[in-house]
Amino acid sequence: MIEEREEILDKYQLVVGLEIHAQLITASKAYSGAVNSYGDLPNANTCPLTLGHPGTLPRVNTGVVQHAVRLGLATNCSLTRHMHFARKNYFYADLPKGYQITQDTTPICTEGYLDVKDADGKNKRIGITRIHIEEDAGKSIHDQDPFNTLVDLNRAGVPLLEIVSEPDIRSIEEAYNYLAEVRRLVRYLDICDGNMEEGSMRCDANVSVMLKGAKEYGNRCEVKNMNSLRNVQRAITYEMKRQIAIVEAGGKVTQQTRSFDAVNGTTFSLRGKEDAHDYRYFPEPDMQPLELTDAAIEKVKKAMPPLPRDLFKRYTDELGLSEYDAGIITESKPIAMYYEAMIEHTTNYKAAANRLMGEVKSYINQTATRIEDFPVKPEMMAALIKLVDENKVSNSAATQQVFPLMVEHPGQSPEEIAQTHNLLQKSDDDWLENIARQAIAAFPEKAEAYKQGNKGLLGLFMGEVMKLSERKANPKMASQILKKILEE
Ligand code: ADP
Ligand code: MG
Repeated sequence: MIEEREEILDKYQLVVGLEIHAQLITASKAYSGAVNSYGDLPNANTCPLTLGHPGTLPRVNTGVVQHAVRLGLATNCSLTRHMHFARKNYFYADLPKGYQITQDTTPICTEGYLDVKDADGKNKRIGITRIHIEEDAGKSIHDQDPFNTLVDLNRAGVPLLEIVSEPDIRSIEEAYNYLAEVRRLVRYLDICDGNMEEGSMRCDANVSVMLKGAKEYGNRCEVKNMNSLRNVQRAITYEMKRQIAIVEAGGKVTQQTRSFDAVNGTTFSLRGKEDAHDYRYFPEPDMQPLELTDAAIEKVKKAMPPLPRDLFKRYTDELGLSEYDAGIITESKPIAMYYEAMIEHTTNYKAAANRLMGEVKSYINQTATRIEDFPVKPEMMAALIKLVDENKVSNSAATQQVFPLMVEHPGQSPEEIAQTHNLLQKSDDDWLENIARQAIAAFPEKAEAYKQGNKGLLGLFMGEVMKLSERKANPKMASQILKKILEE
């Protein structure tokens, strides 16, 4: 049973906290030298540590710590300076050690936040409780052999960051925007590819409901197994309606771990609180405590890639872009990087934004390609902007004729292209004035009528100028000169 009536749903407040796992992009695994790479032959990337052989000694991968610090800085967290690792014990076939090495009481990042848009488009601050380093388990494959479960340990020991939010999220939109923001950040930071469909970013949603204005949170359920942003939305929506139906019927929500069924859009119980694992955490005896020094933090700060919020601020405050344009450009890092490269070669920031969001994006959409594969170099796009600004090519010729030719001949400059295709327009004053005078002289009565007030006749003279100039006249200048002569 789920509740669908608006007036009932309206009485309740949704409360959500998200736990996000991000698989890190590193050369080797979290605590060993085995290769960290996706898509290789099963069990190709293992080592005695991955296999849990006795006597092996784990060591933390410095790259993992650096990634964690990057994310901590980007999410306004405090960094823990003295920490240790912990064992989280459980048995599973794809976990040969019998435990995961994680951080229990000393997560590397604490008390951060991210600002996202709420359902009304207003800013909303979502607290981040903690970010800690841990490792992934291997993969059990149930569907390739009718009788046996196969185990692939390539993923065992792959580094993860777990990002735990405060229960600050109050709507489906906030949940979506927060998760999208975390994904955008890990991509900007080059620490995780953020691909939920492939499982390199995973999200568990803790959901509860309470009457609006209530002081205490309701019991929560944790929903797992959503493999897209959209499915996280669907799962939270269903779970909220299910819990409201229970409370409305006078019942009490029991704390559970549930799984999302993407086919039906529903959630079902995996285990109750009484079945919750007892992981028997204890400090990892085989690893040194970890000291995060000022020098190590400085090093990460120096190598920090630009953050979308800083680019957004610079584009709106300094370059004069609208919030809308800045939002679209910074939405994806490769687009923003293309824009950055364009504005190294032009100061017409608005035109650069328009061309990027206009013809470049349409080309990418139409060809279903990525900006990374777009053949035209940013400096060539900047050169096209210059041609238009210098009145050498009309805006419409730039968009409709020069640009498509640039895509076909990415080695040629827009100027060469305009030249060979006879698209350069003339803005030479004397030349243009001469043509304008000829055009007016061809229609003496019309010129008289214009002077008497029939301003609509300007179009006629414009047409004549274009004809006489073989369409090479710059229209803006031609119309100015025509008006000047006619009003003499
Ligand atoms: P556990 O140790 O069981 O995972 P935590 O206290 O770490 O529990 O909380 C896990 C997640 O649940 C956090 O993201 C937190 O924000 C969220 N959470 C806690 N209480 C609630 C609640 N009443 N409703 C929704 N989410 C909650
Ligand atoms: Mg948890």
